[in-house]
Amino acid sequence: LTVNCLDQHVEKSPNRVALIWERDEPGTAVHVTYRELLDLTCRLANTLKKYGIQKGDKVAIYMSVSPLSVAAMLACARIGAVHTVVFAGFSAESLAGRIMDSGCKAVITYNQGVRGGRIIELKMTVDEAVKNCPSIKHVFVAQRTDNKVQMGDRDIPLEEEMAKAASVCTPESLDSEDMLFMLYTSGSTGKPKGIVHTQAGYLLYAALTHKYVFDYQQGDVFGCVADIGWITGHSYVVYGPLCNGATSVLFESTPVYPDPGRYWEVVQRLKINQFYGAPTAIRLLLNYGEEWVKKYDRSSLKTLGSVGEPINNEAWQWFYHVVGEGRCTLVDTWWQTETGGICIAPRPSEDKAEIVPAMAMRPFFGIVPVLMDENGKVIEGNDVSGALCIAQPWPGMARTIYGDHQRFVDAYFKVYPGYYFTGDGAYRTKKGYYQITGRMDDVINISGHRLGTAEIEDAM
Ligand code: AMP
Repeated sequence: LTVNCLDQHVEKSPNRVALIWERDEPGTAVHVTYRELLDLTCRLANTLKKYGIQKGDKVAIYMSVSPLSVAAMLACARIGAVHTVVFAGFSAESLAGRIMDSGCKAVITYNQGVRGGRIIELKMTVDEAVKNCPSIKHVFVAQRTDNKVQMGDRDIPLEEEMAKAASVCTPESLDSEDMLFMLYTSGSTGKPKGIVHTQAGYLLYAALTHKYVFDYQQGDVFGCVADIGWITGHSYVVYGPLCNGATSVLFESTPVYPDPGRYWEVVQRLKINQFYGAPTAIRLLLNYGEEWVKKYDRSSLKTLGSVGEPINNEAWQWFYHVVGEGRCTLVDTWWQTETGGICIAPRPSEDKAEIVPAMAMRPFFGIVPVLMDENGKVIEGNDVSGALCIAQPWPGMARTIYGDHQRFVDAYFKVYPGYYFTGDGAYRTKKGYYQITGRMDDVINISGHRLGTAEIEDAM
């Protein structure tokens, strides 16, 4: 996998920029070439190996988005370890729950994080979490700020070790069905599910959808502003773009820091060609008015993308007309942690095929959507609504829930036998396009992130 994401590009064009880290502090972007990213990845991989991490071991990554956190993911992949990225905003309890469920041997973190001008105490949260996690042997601590944090017996200063490590690391040879990562997501009952993705199918699907849904062309700067703690960050910040040799933007900040023009200032400065974000952020920004957008040159933009929740018509129109000046393709992309990559989106399609506002519309290659009625029968014809299922497997689909395959079968394949059940409802329009109407179970989706009843009860 890392050979596809790194070595093949280093061979052909080592100085191509792989990552542009748009740090929280405006105007301090850092460029990292494919050669440099391979170097970072190998040094990190050798450091993990030195401390006993082997093929099949689980490693938690609790870091804000940065070249080092991307290298941490890739370093795990290079040695056949399985990463589980935990969003760096989650509490110590959530982190501990995920570490215990997956049996992680190590955590990779930062001393602190920086977001929206504020310091986030990442290492302190990890300390709190691992108190109750006997499986953790080491905590690798990288430096995001200059502030010192308490270092204990199992803590290892990451950069110091990496500086001593060799910059070459032969990639572990892996089976196409070996685990690549797990990522926790909420279910309607019980604890979060560790959704498992494997090597070849996942990478193929992430790369193909990245290329065809967004019309990515070589040389484009791809800007997905999602955090690596979510599946969108895995597939469209890291694996899809890197497999395609793209330049991928790592956005560490927030849409309103230092002001509501941040996204568009970044688009202008980094000359972003594809901008992929969430409806929540668009809805937030449209309240601040058009001046914040129009101040900046957005002529580099070709494709705009939306993900995470249904995009309402007002937000779609604003994104399309104000941000995209009515000349960019806007793709509403429907998919899930479990699907690995985009399943329904307006593109690819025939050249200049119509795009209906606020609708995901068309299935991707190999995706066969069906709608089911309450009796579990397939609904034929158009202008109908039902439970959204997928009728045949595709390369990027999740393989299991870690440690609980029966729960995987029960949640996704028992409800409508022979079909994958998404948990979402959908409407098929008169013309046969799909519009997602929302969750059908007890899961609520807030700001593009799932919350199940169990978590809400827990918090209360
Ligand atoms: P997650 O796995 O956390 O990314 O959440 C996936 C869920 O988010 C889906 O099951 C949908 O309910 C919702 N979702 C994601 N993308 C879209 C979209 N483009 N339109 C409507 N709902 C979406």
